[in-house]
Amino acid sequence: MTGTYPSRSTSRCPSDLLSLQELVDGIAVDIAAVMGRGKVADYIPALADVDADQFGMAIHTVDGQFYGTGSSGVGFSIQSISKVLSLTLAIEHHGDDLWNRVSVEPSGDPFNSLVQLEHECGVPRNPLINAGAILVADALLDAHDDPIDALLSLIEQLTGRRPSIDEEVVSSEKATGFRNEAMANLMKSFGNLKHSVADVLDVYFRQCSIVLNCEELAQVFAYLANAGRQPGSEVVVVSPLRARRINALMLTCGTYDRAGEFAFKVGLPAKSGVGGGIAATVPGKLALCAWSPALSASGNSVAATEALRLFAERSLCSVF
Ligand code: GLU
Repeated sequence: MTGTYPSRSTSRCPSDLLSLQELVDGIAVDIAAVMGRGKVADYIPALADVDADQFGMAIHTVDGQFYGTGSSGVGFSIQSISKVLSLTLAIEHHGDDLWNRVSVEPSGDPFNSLVQLEHECGVPRNPLINAGAILVADALLDAHDDPIDALLSLIEQLTGRRPSIDEEVVSSEKATGFRNEAMANLMKSFGNLKHSVADVLDVYFRQCSIVLNCEELAQVFAYLANAGRQPGSEVVVVSPLRARRINALMLTCGTYDRAGEFAFKVGLPAKSGVGGGIAATVPGKLALCAWSPALSASGNSVAATEALRLFAERSLCSVF
């Protein structure tokens, strides 16, 4: 995919002067320096077989321009990136009442930790760690008869294509998701989960098993770069205030217990998943997604993190 990034007199982003296609193509070349580092998420057996030697990246500007490089059209398991989309739907239904059940603080703990949840009486630290997303899945069961259909419909509305769910990943997660079951049961014991643990986890595992590629994810996340409205359309996904808050949560809580380091190195709101994808926004300008399956110990893709760091460094696009 090619295109020229249009100049805008109001812009302060120096990348306006560059072709974003050249920028992402250069990153795809330079990323070779870190390929081979990290390892794929083998705690979910169906993800262990993914070829680690893949890299893709895509950008969707608020002006409706697309840029892609490498394996940007190859689908992957979006995993925790789905948490941003389920949160979007849950906020639309529950409004600020949602924040009585889940906090908005970084956890500083691994994404699947149970420790804080016990200390904090079943109220997850934020909606982007596993416990928080499981809570959001419970909230979605109040909002929609079929929360997965609602999520797929949202994605279809934004991309024009209804994504598939990888049933092998769903089964694999169900067979091995002991910690997620423990979190759901703990929240249930504190009275913070309304629906059955089985029903809630079915939603959670299925949303994690949605398959999208970098191009689609950049397109999906563009509403968060565009004050809640899908670029090029009148479709308002969330209000500007809610888009701002979701971006704030992504920045502070979106990259596991390395959100501080990610803000330091990259400086963009982002959400990573153990499938190796990281979706990010440059508010007011563009959304982007980088993907490579091998992860660091914290669960963030090594090459996708580096790609976003290079993007921010070379484009000077950052929220700081
Ligand atoms: N389905 C994964 C899990 O529950 C999501 C983890 C992630 O991507 O952060 O462990």
